[in-house]
Amino acid sequence: MRLVDVHCHLESKHFEGRLDSIISGAREAGIVRLITSSIVPEEWGLSESIARRYPEVEFALGVHPWYIKEGDEERVEALSRARECGAVAIGEIGLDKKSGPVPLERQKSLFDSQLAIARELDLPVIVHCRGAFDELRACVKKTGLSARGGLIHSFSGSVEIAAELIKQGFSFSFGGALTYRNSKKKEAVLKAVYPDRFMLETDSPDIPPVEAKPGPNVPANILYNLRAASEILGLSEEMVAEAGTANARRMFGLTLD
Ligand SMILES: [Zn+2]
Repeated sequence: MRLVDVHCHLESKHFEGRLDSIISGAREAGIVRLITSSIVPEEWGLSESIARRYPEVEFALGVHPWYIKEGDEERVEALSRARECGAVAIGEIGLDKKSGPVPLERQKSLFDSQLAIARELDLPVIVHCRGAFDELRACVKKTGLSARGGLIHSFSGSVEIAAELIKQGFSFSFGGALTYRNSKKKEAVLKAVYPDRFMLETDSPDIPPVEAKPGPNVPANILYNLRAASEILGLSEEMVAEAGTANARRMFGLTLD
């Protein structure tokens, strides 16, 4: 069984000095690729160096809407080099009306510029979106996505919203929230987007699955998310894992042998 954790944050200080064991745990769990997403420009160099160190790690560069600060409008111009330094996506970028200190207008402006760069570079985007799906759709309508499309991670919208976003070229990844097993809405969304628009993630070190050991979430815990997804879908874990891996491979241009 081959798994891809399409969204995690290996740059996190929770993983400092522990990456060798985190990555070998991921390998043992069957993870063949991890896509680590930076959240601030100060992490971009680290994302790249982690990916150089571990052959199964790919990286995305971006500014997360919670952490936008003075001067980032200029800093994101450097993302035009993302492709040449080996990034497989622009992310984590997005819009959040539910939490975070940054006014929506400012988020939109930075989101727009990062979308435009992704489009120009023909890279997919990895998106965080909370309570701002109308705004997200409007931004994407204006700027467009590259032909690779985009991934909305830890998707929290409805089946109807998912259908609209699919028309724009989005896919969705699901993580620890699947293990809460408390939401008919999430189950309906999972069933609606599976298999073609479905991927698996952990968002490590965040969103630990219910069954996981206490402490920061780790990529190996993707197995709990896989189990929850396969239970909800009524399909084998192997089948669900392969579907997510095939979609990740296509969107991010991963070479898996
Ligand atoms: Zn994240």
